[in-house]
Amino acid sequence: MNVRFTGSYEEFREKLQHISGVWRDLNPNQKQLRTPAGGVLNWYPSTGSLTFQGNSPGAEKLRDEVIAALTGTPVDAAPGLTPQRETVPERHGAEVTVPVPMATAESGAGRSGLLQRAFSESELVFALIGAVGTELQKVRGILDDWLRKAGYSVRQIRITQDVIPKIVENIPRSGSSEYDRLSGLMDAGNEARATSGDNSILALGAAAYINSQRSKDENGCPQHVPRCAYVISSLKHPDEVGRLREIYPQGFYLIGVHADEKRRFDYLTKDKSISDAKANELIDRDENEHLPHGQRVADTFHLSDFFVRIDGQDDHLKDSVWRILELLFGNPYVTPTFDEYAMFLAFAASLSSADLSRQVGAVVAVDEQVVATGANDCPRANGGRYWPVRNPKTHRIEDQEDGRDYMRGEDSNKVEQQKIIDEILDRAEKTGLDREKVREALDASRIRDLTEFGRVVHAEMDALLSCGRIRAPTQGGTLYCTTFPCHNCAKHIVGAGIHRVVFIEPYEKSKAAEFHSDSIQVGFADLGSPPDDRRMVCFEPFVGVGPRRFFDLFSIRLGSGYPVERKNVAGRVMEWKAGQSGLRLQMLPASYLDLEFVAGDMFNKARSAVTELGNGG
Ligand SMILES: [Zn+2]
Repeated sequence: MNVRFTGSYEEFREKLQHISGVWRDLNPNQKQLRTPAGGVLNWYPSTGSLTFQGNSPGAEKLRDEVIAALTGTPVDAAPGLTPQRETVPERHGAEVTVPVPMATAESGAGRSGLLQRAFSESELVFALIGAVGTELQKVRGILDDWLRKAGYSVRQIRITQDVIPKIVENIPRSGSSEYDRLSGLMDAGNEARATSGDNSILALGAAAYINSQRSKDENGCPQHVPRCAYVISSLKHPDEVGRLREIYPQGFYLIGVHADEKRRFDYLTKDKSISDAKANELIDRDENEHLPHGQRVADTFHLSDFFVRIDGQDDHLKDSVWRILELLFGNPYVTPTFDEYAMFLAFAASLSSADLSRQVGAVVAVDEQVVATGANDCPRANGGRYWPVRNPKTHRIEDQEDGRDYMRGEDSNKVEQQKIIDEILDRAEKTGLDREKVREALDASRIRDLTEFGRVVHAEMDALLSCGRIRAPTQGGTLYCTTFPCHNCAKHIVGAGIHRVVFIEPYEKSKAAEFHSDSIQVGFADLGSPPDDRRMVCFEPFVGVGPRRFFDLFSIRLGSGYPVERKNVAGRVMEWKAGQSGLRLQMLPASYLDLEFVAGDMFNKARSAVTELGNGG
């Protein structure tokens, strides 16, 4: 029997006030009562569920008292309410007691599958992101078709229909023009973020909506839906991604959908009959609104797990989405493209950076051969960057004193910027200008975007300089970088003869495209050469499986999910079929606290078996 309490924390404490013990407000969704006899009660206000832990018999006593207080029924009178626990003789005489949480008590036996990789009923949550005018419905349709064939049910969650109307009153009415509708929805999203003071509010709404659609058991507890996928369209803010990753750590995937600006403009003007001027306005606004609670698609897109592209050829898109799904469902023959592999190495290189503000990585490859890697960090004498090494005197792995910025205690770029600002303020004051007004003007300017005085070598330059040190030509090479190059690196990349740059994260401060419009083309290489057939250096957004999930999905043994096999004992290649395999990364309908109980259950069963054997049974 499950007992739940869905009232307020105050009411809960009042009902249990006769039980002596210490209350702890652990977090908004966990309140705890510890009794002197060693019983522990956890109450989870969001679902109302209760769990009991602690030493025997304190835990059982607390449990009986709580049930009696909440149900008004003494435990003795209610059949089935005796404390449920497994008791097995300890091999050396003592007794091991594993109390089973009430929420999982009845189903304890069937739940052992959760810890044996036998669970294949996992739910799955996708979210899509794309700039305004991107035909996300195409991706939704492909996901839907494939997942249904794989035996999944699919539920679509539209933020604009299922979430925003629940929190914002003034949303565009049906019958308004497409421009009014889209711009009204952007306003409504901003309003929801601003009034709640939480930039993840629409993601919270999406999770709440999914929860509201779940069927409930006899006690009103929401139920897991076997093999169900949810597709949320679409995210607009980085905090929404963070929130969904927090709620569905193993089972959430963000798909970034690229469509070049011309294609999106054509869709808005031709398919949606929006005027050219208004279409451009929507595109600019959508990318990055410089408002505290505005939408920030450009800052969110690069957080994706997968990047796909709509290029007008539906077969390309379908194949890209299918490949992602096959990878998620354990197809052991989906292996990385060279771009995916090189970008993962660039990401790995970025992790070595000790820069105070961001970690950036780069890889130079020539003819699909990685030649050098680089990260943004301080250079050391005689070439390369600093690495921490073991100091023979202290026996510790240490960094060189006064080497990297963190060892020197400051970011020289920010320090110099401030000196320049102070210098301007002093001079302005001497000429009779108002110091505070000048400060305001400077703060509103881009003076703090200057990168001139940084001590770090940028990742792209670090990789190019490595090529120089090992005498490896960069002519005709490809440079992979986790972040779009700054204008400073860009001119050296062009000068080095690199012919293609692949990047993930945008870098708003970069003037590369503007300053070098003669030599750099930003966008996909196949969009066409300029009319005078000069060969431009193409700066191309990354497409494919991003670095975030690379390890989990491509490693056949070491990822977080189940290992995959490629051959049978006879050495024959194993067949893989979509509908017959489970997700590699299962989202278990249990918390780690539940799983500890399952573990205890399994442990005790094993001990019983061992003991019986020992007794000759
Ligand atoms: Zn740079």
